[in-house]
Amino acid sequence: MAGSLAQPGRAGGRLAPAAAGAGAGAVRRISIFGATGSIGESTLDLLARDPGAWQVVALTGRENVGRLAALARAFGAELAVTADPAREGELRDRLADSGVEAAAGPAALLEAAERPADVTVAAIVGAAGLAPGFRALAQGGRLALANKESLVAAGPLLLAEAARHGATILPVDSEHSAVFQALAGEDMGAVERIVITASGGPFRTWPAARLAAATVAEAAAHPNWSMGRRISIDSASLFNKALELIEAREFFGIAPERLEVVVHPQSIVHALVGFSDGALIAHLGAPDMRHAIGYALNWPRRRPLPVRRLDLAALGTLAFEAPDEARFPALRLARAVMATGGLAGAAFNAAKEIALDGFIAGRLRFPAMAALVEATLDRLSAGGGLTIAPSRLDDVLAMDHLARQTAAAIVQAGRI
Ligand code: NAD
Ligand code: MG
Repeated sequence: MAGSLAQPGRAGGRLAPAAAGAGAGAVRRISIFGATGSIGESTLDLLARDPGAWQVVALTGRENVGRLAALARAFGAELAVTADPAREGELRDRLADSGVEAAAGPAALLEAAERPADVTVAAIVGAAGLAPGFRALAQGGRLALANKESLVAAGPLLLAEAARHGATILPVDSEHSAVFQALAGEDMGAVERIVITASGGPFRTWPAARLAAATVAEAAAHPNWSMGRRISIDSASLFNKALELIEAREFFGIAPERLEVVVHPQSIVHALVGFSDGALIAHLGAPDMRHAIGYALNWPRRRPLPVRRLDLAALGTLAFEAPDEARFPALRLARAVMATGGLAGAAFNAAKEIALDGFIAGRLRFPAMAALVEATLDRLSAGGGLTIAPSRLDDVLAMDHLARQTAAAIVQAGRI
């Protein structure tokens, strides 16, 4: 188990005093980056159900400034930040006379991350979420990490930064929260394998030929989970699962060959941990992100959460099948990225974001996303730069930039 992740095997140890204080009724300060998104709104839903328990420090968003201002007012936030500098005036107008400070732009996001908070929720989508989360770690508090792209692009740096400041990173991705819970009280040395589940997305049963004609609306229609559009499309391509494999490798410090993905269309079992004695401990729950979010907020305690309880008899059976890497090459690419290490994760994520932009804009067909990511990685690895281990966040951001440019150039040249 790496660095300063909260250690499930020792839950209740290092963090117990602070958590006990909070449990005794102390108001905890919380900032939410990406407050207007799916995870952000779910987090705020939980806060609203626990009046008096939280002081909202900073809320951030980007495009939906009206919603951001409304949330900041409703929750009595100290500060609201839009990532888009062009929307600063609108945000100020909407917050006039509210007592909520308004700010805009990437620098303002970093300043917001420095405002003292006990818990920071990292729920911006994409590599844009990396720098604010990284900055928040310097406070030495708790980072509830939904932004998996951070760990994919800069896992070792993030863990080292957390260790340096005594901060704790807790997983908010449902599979990783499930693994974390299955590991509670266990010795990582006895872990044989970690299995994360994938729903298979809306195209699980589609033949390859049909995938070429898949539309954005079809790709975004996740069968089980209600999520932001980008992660929903990533679920259809299995790029989300690919990111999650790398996320699990970084989070739990486990060798890639001990990591598995199994398709489970019902999204009831979120992950399983296999131990050296043959036991396989599974985590089951309704597909509702408020469980993983609430667990990260409440850890190391468990508190009641408003999620549907499972009726196992009504469920009847749980189905599992192997992923099809021919139709969905993203998992194979993730394994190559883990084998390469260094800056490969940053390049992979950035190329994936450009591919996704291209699909959403109608420039790329659905299968071309994986082809573009693979071509980008091939080109960058020919230059030899992917294996270099980053020593600073700027190294990661530079590779992110280079991979975006490389992917865009490949598209422009019509090679995909
Ligand atoms: P979303 O698209 O619903 O919301 C994204 C949020 O980030 C919004 O507040 C948006 O305004 C903001 N944002 C977008 N681009 C930005 C930028 N460039 N700079 C600053 N802010 C920006 O996304 P989501 O589904 O809530 O996902 C958020 C993160 O959580 C992602 O990393 C995703 O992979 C992860 N996650 C989401 C779910 C889920 O159920 N939605 C589950 C697991 C993990
Ligand atoms: Mg997930």
